[in-house]
Amino acid sequence: MTSDRQQQVINLKNELATPRRIVLTNHQGPDGDAMGAMTALYQFLRKMGHEVTMITPNDYPEFLHWLPCNSETVNFMRQKEMATAIIEKADYIFHLDYNQIKRSADMFRPLSASKAVRILIDHHPDPSLPANYLFSDSNASSTCELLFNILKIWDASLIDRDIAGCLYTGIMTDTGCFSYRSATSYTFTVVSELLVYGIDRDAIYNQVYDNFSAQRMRLMGYCLNSKMEIFPEYRAALITLSLEEQRRYDFATGDSEGFVNLPLSVNGVRFTAFFLEKDDKIKISFRSKGSFSVNDFARKHFSGGGHLNASGGEARTSLDETVRKFRELLPLYKDELHAQ
Ligand code: 5GP
Ligand code: MN
Repeated sequence: MTSDRQQQVINLKNELATPRRIVLTNHQGPDGDAMGAMTALYQFLRKMGHEVTMITPNDYPEFLHWLPCNSETVNFMRQKEMATAIIEKADYIFHLDYNQIKRSADMFRPLSASKAVRILIDHHPDPSLPANYLFSDSNASSTCELLFNILKIWDASLIDRDIAGCLYTGIMTDTGCFSYRSATSYTFTVVSELLVYGIDRDAIYNQVYDNFSAQRMRLMGYCLNSKMEIFPEYRAALITLSLEEQRRYDFATGDSEGFVNLPLSVNGVRFTAFFLEKDDKIKISFRSKGSFSVNDFARKHFSGGGHLNASGGEARTSLDETVRKFRELLPLYKDELHAQ
């Protein structure tokens, strides 16, 4: 951490020397990193004596419901009035694991109107969210990795096994179990420090990755059998899932988590897209291996963003039209997809 950043962390610590009303927020469709960071920081700030509320923009997957303090989260989509009132009263607001206000979905209204001191802790490139404290580092594997650093500077003695477990969850999920390039030697240093708190790595892995319904496994089989399309000439692949198909498989939030990665296991595939039909839009996930930037691709064509090798976006066109647009874009990227 740079000395300037370290000073900022200390300045914020000094501001938090007296009890404050604090709201923690994360991005729409919170993932393991977003929820891990939120629950870790929640427990830490409560130990410091603050009044803290966690507010997620919407639901998050069942496989994260085991996280400590999960039941204390407020869901903006389901508890709009209460959540808005809490945001209005906040002295401090943390933006965790997102870099644009629109990533907080409908929560962007009360968040934009708030006069609270804002703190951003995030690892997505090019943050555009105005913040009084900006802790942004796109070289960090995860928000949890960054947060661990901050908590250590604030008061290492307050970090306990539960907090360490939450942070580990975020690092594990955002690095694809330490398989992505974003997992650096520093990431492993952080993990080794977290292990000292006695976290149960096996239990965390099982809760997150071996905790799905039989229907989700059948849906995965269906996607691989009938929905995966491979474009060898572009080293690309796609999977789509319509609302009707989701109904057929009793789809629950999080059931398609990770499906976008599946075609990357196919020999030669370097770029994948997963299209999930929602009531009002198509939610798209992109993944790549190597130098092809799915962050650029999502930003340019699908109103999205993310990281070099993992991004997402959306479209307000039909599923067919959205997929057609994607197919038509592939030839334009042929050279880039072959350069590694
Ligand atoms: P996922 O495919 O898992 O939803 O998202 C992968 C990555 O892309 C995450 O880091 C997520 O924050 C980012 N991302 C997903 N959807 C969007 C989007 O609509 N806009 C932006 N800016 N980033 C997104
Ligand atoms: Mn993240």
